[in-house]
Order: sequence, then C-alpha cells, then structure tokens
Amino acid sequence: MANPNVRVRFCPSPTGNPHVGLVRTALFNWAFARHNGGTMVFRIEDTDAARDSEESYNQLLDSMRWLGLTWDEGPEVGGPHAPYRQSQRMDIYKDVATKLIDGGYAYPCYCTTEELDARRDAARAAGKPSGYDGACRDLSAEQKAAYEAEGRSHIVRFRMPDEAITFTDLVRGEITVQPENVTDYGILRANGAPLYTLVNPVDDALMEITHVLRGEDLLSSTPRQIALYKALIELGVAKSIPEFGHLPYVMGEGNKKLSKRDPQASLNVYRERGFLPEGLINYLSLLGWSFSADQDIFTVAQLIEKFDIADVNANPARFDLKKAEAINADHIRLLDSKAFAAACEPWLQAPHANWAPEDFDRAAWEAIAPHAQTRVQVLSDITANVDFLFLKSPVEDEASWAKAMKGEPAALLTTARAKLVSADWSDPESLKNAVLAAGEEHGLKLGKAQAPVRVAVTGRTVGLPLFESLEILGQERTLARIDAALAKLSA
Ligand code: GLU
Ligand code: ZN
Repeated sequence: MANPNVRVRFCPSPTGNPHVGLVRTALFNWAFARHNGGTMVFRIEDTDAARDSEESYNQLLDSMRWLGLTWDEGPEVGGPHAPYRQSQRMDIYKDVATKLIDGGYAYPCYCTTEELDARRDAARAAGKPSGYDGACRDLSAEQKAAYEAEGRSHIVRFRMPDEAITFTDLVRGEITVQPENVTDYGILRANGAPLYTLVNPVDDALMEITHVLRGEDLLSSTPRQIALYKALIELGVAKSIPEFGHLPYVMGEGNKKLSKRDPQASLNVYRERGFLPEGLINYLSLLGWSFSADQDIFTVAQLIEKFDIADVNANPARFDLKKAEAINADHIRLLDSKAFAAACEPWLQAPHANWAPEDFDRAAWEAIAPHAQTRVQVLSDITANVDFLFLKSPVEDEASWAKAMKGEPAALLTTARAKLVSADWSDPESLKNAVLAAGEEHGLKLGKAQAPVRVAVTGRTVGLPLFESLEILGQERTLARIDAALAKLSA
C-alpha cells in the first residue's frame, strides 16, 4: 500500500566518481519514494574537507539528473530543511553535541591513541572484547582539569547504553547486538569537528527521515545510531526512530565485492559507452530485487509501480556486465526510431568519431538508423556499424579483407559492378538481384558473392543489411569503392 508519509534520503559524500553501488542505493531509495508517493531527500555529506570536492559534487547532481532520479528536497531545489549540504550545517551539529554533553549522553575522552592501542592489544591478548573500555566515562571535574593541565586534547564520545539493541531490518529481519560489541564511539574530533557518526543520524532526525535504505557496509553503524536516536528523542531533537533496510553487497569479478576503484564500478563508464538511463536503471534495480520470475525487462514506470523494499533480497547480488548490456540492448529496441536516431547522434558527431563533423549526413543517418537499431547493445556501438556512410573511404580492416577477398574476387567484383550499374538504385531488391546474378556467373551463392562487395564498400565482413546500405550510400560512391577495391586487388 502506498504511504505518502515516506521520507527517504540519498546522502553521498562527494568524493571520487559516482559508482554503481552508490547509484543502486540512490535508485532503491528513489523507487521506494516514488512507489509510495513519498519524498526523496538528497543530502550531501561533505564534512570531510580533505576528501570532498566540488567536482565530485557536480558529478553527483549531473548523474542523478541523467538517470532521472529526481529529488524533492536537496541541493538546487531547496526545501523545508535547507541547507542540504552538511558543510553548511555546522552550527546545528555543534548545538546538538552540546545538548548531548549537557544531558550526559556524551562525554570528553582524553585517551591518547597510544593509550587506546595499548589497552586494545591487552584486551585482545586476554581474549576480551577490544572496543573502547569506557575509561573516561565518569571522570570527575578534577580528573578532567588535571588532563587539561597536562595539555591533553579530547574527543567527544557517545555513551552507549549497557543493554542489547534489537531492531528489525527491512531486508534482513531481526538483528540483535550485544553491548560489548558496540562500545562508546566518537562523535566530535579533538578539533571539535563533527563526525559522520553524529551528523548522519542528526540530519536524518531533523529531516524527519522515515526509512534509511543503504548499503550493507553501514549495518554496523545502525545500533549506534539507534542509541543516539533514543537520546535525541529524549532531548526533543528527534521525533521517532526511522526504519532501516540494508541493501546487499554488489559482487564483481571473481565474486569479490565490487570496489569503488574497480573500473567496472564507475557510472561514467556506462554513460560514455552509451547505456540508456532506462537500461541502466532496469539493470541496477535487479541488483538485489526482481521484477518477476519471468520478466527481466521493464520500464521505469513499471519499476515504480512494483518496487517494494520488503521484496529486496539479502543475498549478495552479482554484477554481470553481459546481462547489463543485453538489458540495455532491449531498451534500445524499445525506443521509437526517431528517439533512437537522436540518441545516437552524440556518438556520431563526437570528436572521437574518425570523420569530420561536416561529413556527418543526417539524411543518410536517418535512413539507415532503423536498420542499425536492432544491432547495437550500447549506443557507442553505432559508429562501427555506420562509419562507411561518413568516411571518405571505408575503414581498412586487413582481417576482413583477407577473409572476403578469396578465390577470384576481382572477376566477381567486375561482374557485380557491371550489373549494379544497370540496377534500380531505389530498390534494394534490385541491388540484391544484381549481386546474385553476378555470383551465379562465377558459381557462387549469394553469401559468398556479397562478401567481397561488402568489404569493398564498408571495409568489414559483418554489418548492417548490405543492399539497404548500398542504396543509402548511393550508386556513385558504391561504384567508386568497388573501383578502389579492384585497383587494390590488381596492385
Ligand atoms: N555519506 C555516507 C556514505 O557515503 C552515507 C551513509 C548512509 O547512508 O547512512 O557512505
Ligand atoms: Zn578515554
């Protein structure tokens, strides 16, 4: 049932390029919000000035827009809880940290790294839990003053309750964590800067997030956040604890977790190769969810209609590039032919295409596009399929040449040329009959007879339907290419 009160958030840190795992998280939040008619909040967790970058911030916004993952509150659109960049919310965190300290929910910890390390190692050696041991939990005013006098700095730690924490994960069911496994944790650095552990739940509370859907790697922070939430509720800062759902890991090659640094993980790679947003969305939504047992291909509208977090599977999902490409290919077939032609143009006119922009011929492209639409998996495949139309002479592919120019190719090409001269160039059937008849004269079936013609004209042994290609290329250019091939054969 739809629940318009749903408020979810996508809250990346602007570091590096957007990657597949991050986009999957954004997508599941978005689909859940849209399915429910709820609110999608986009928040930027940029509290780490050393790692955050404006370039990464811009890429995040651009990627979300490209995919069509719209947000109702967040950067550039604003909203009732603005600002949505944590770097602009520092006063809020200071204020909440002060309330937590004053209320006894958090305390200064003067331990040095060396002291913490030594005690941790000793605990490990004794087979005891090795988290923070609570040494500074109940320092008296005199002890604090003595530490200060020593010139020690302090961080601020949140005081975890000494009881088990149980919650029902929307994906993984009931989870219970014992207190010795979640010890008091830092919320402010020694320089007073707030940490993720504080700012993330504080903002979720203030932004009234109802459902936290995020990657499994963050599961261990949930008991801490629940405890912090309880404190925030007692302090009147939060209203209620959100529900949590942890999305399964995405596995890459060799069944290893897909890492941010894996080139296969970068969203830009898919975009540059010519995935359609709807193809990528279809594929990424299958990483932990399924539309139905017998249907892999669906539209964004169908996704929204059907998506429910309760149907997400806890098992790791496997990223399968071949499947992603096959799904994208299906979405390319679903475009109407005008949309397909328009979608390919950036690749055909891109600086990397090996013909000049003025050689691009839109009429020829629009004529051939319907024949190409069934042949490409990603839009960047288009250039190799239609380059013969725009190049002054076809690509030189020696392997194709060697394969097609066997037997007596010159004799065949000469006969075919003569028959093509008198064919009807407005009818691909007539062009086919010309090559068929030439083949017959040389004892060759159509397949064998058309191979040298195809390589002479397009440069390659495989490609789009040949006779439609010849018609679109035109008589003059086709014959000139056959002449050039004949000259090469006799050289
Ligand atoms: N900024 C955090 C990250 O990028 C967000 C984690 C969360 O969703 O709570 O991992
Ligand atoms: Zn301490």
